Amino acid sequence: MSQWDDTQITGKLKEGGNKITKIYQIGRKNQNTHKIVVLETDIPLQPLIQIGQTGTKYRLEPYKNKPRFCNNCKHWGHHSSKCKNKTRCNNCGGTHKGKCLRTHPKCAQCLGPHLPKSPACQATVRELNIINEMELRQINYNTARKLHKLDKQQHSSIVGSNNINPNQLTKIGNEITLEINKSLTVLEKVINLIHQSNHKETKGIHKTLLNAKSEFQNLITVNDCIRNG
Ligand SMILES: [Zn+2]
Ligand SMILES: [Zn+2]
Ligand SMILES: [Zn+2]
Repeated sequence: MSQWDDTQITGKLKEGGNKITKIYQIGRKNQNTHKIVVLETDIPLQPLIQIGQTGTKYRLEPYKNKPRFCNNCKHWGHHSSKCKNKTRCNNCGGTHKGKCLRTHPKCAQCLGPHLPKSPACQATVRELNIINEMELRQINYNTARKLHKLDKQQHSSIVGSNNINPNQLTKIGNEITLEINKSLTVLEKVINLIHQSNHKETKGIHKTLLNAKSEFQNLITVNDCIRNG
């Protein structure tokens, strides 16, 4: 992998009137091979750029939010460069040194019988939801993360008991409102898109969706009553 040459590459990227707003260094500090460039452009970018006729080729990829996995503590949500936790074993979630003796995996995050990156893990599902939410709402990681709080205790305390106390009811209510609002956001987006497309065939759907929207809004009112007891 070639070293990044700022002047040459930015020069190349600016061709055709493109404007560079920001350049971020990614990866290890001593590795200077990958960067994120925030670029304002009206033209589709070529997947490869070459410096000079025979010069080095650089691959260009559109930036996509990727799930963050920590190779140190084996949790989703941050990179190992930012990790303040103990080093954990990928196989058993333990903090032992040397070879792991456990035959069946135990997740470092949820203690379940799978590896931490497994799609069977709640934490993996959550991380993917966070990334989707970021794309959908164009929000940053931390904001999206707050919308997808892993309601581990909430869940277990509700499922694990025969009684629900008013405190839990408020919590459930909050969670329901959050979910309804999420659906409402998607619904509104679709309604707007259909409205803009202005096709005859979609007129009927438009009406149905508007009805659905008001149903959702009714649900929020009902749920407010639940929350307030
Ligand atoms: Zn970590
Ligand atoms: Zn282990
Ligand atoms: Zn797990």
